[in-house]
Amino acid sequence: MKHDGELVTPEPYRSTFRTCDFCSKVIKEREDYEIKEASISCRRGTRYPEGGSSVTKIVDVCADCFDEKVIPVIEGLGVKFREEEHDF
Ligand SMILES: [Zn+2]
Repeated sequence: MKHDGELVTPEPYRSTFRTCDFCSKVIKEREDYEIKEASISCRRGTRYPEGGSSVTKIVDVCADCFDEKVIPVIEGLGVKFREEEHDF
C-alpha cells in the first residue's frame, strides 16, 4: 500500500563564503582531496577573571595569493617561514 506523505519543500540554503582580498576569488579551503587554508590575522585585547574583550584584524587571503603575494613580501622583510608537516 502506498501512503502519500506531506510534501516537504526544502528550505532555501544559504551559506557564507569568503573572498580573497587580493584576487577577489571565492576562497575554497577544502575541495575534493585538497586542503588550501591560509590566514592573516592579529588578535589583541584584554583578559581578566571577570571577562575581557578583543579586536581581531583579518585579511582574507586564498592559499595561492598567500604563496604568490604574501610570502615574498614578508620574506622580503628578512623573515623566513617555517614549515610544519602534519599526517592525519
Ligand atoms: Zn587570492
